[in-house]
Amino acid sequence: MPMFEFRCAACKHLFTRIVWKSSSGDISCPSCGSNDVIKQISGFASPGSQKSDSSHACGSS
Ligand SMILES: [Zn+2]
Repeated sequence: MPMFEFRCAACKHLFTRIVWKSSSGDISCPSCGSNDVIKQISGFASPGSQKSDSSHACGSS
């Protein structure tokens, strides 16, 4: 089921909608009714987790 997370640009409300089309033009915020919403990238990779910090890598002895 194509569910996407959206964040309202007006009130910062985060909500999930089922979207069948790739356009988010008809998505409106359930909190304030604004259609100025931003589609969130759903995934396991959170921003800031791509650090190349290997100073404490274990098992290299
Ligand atoms: Zn809103």
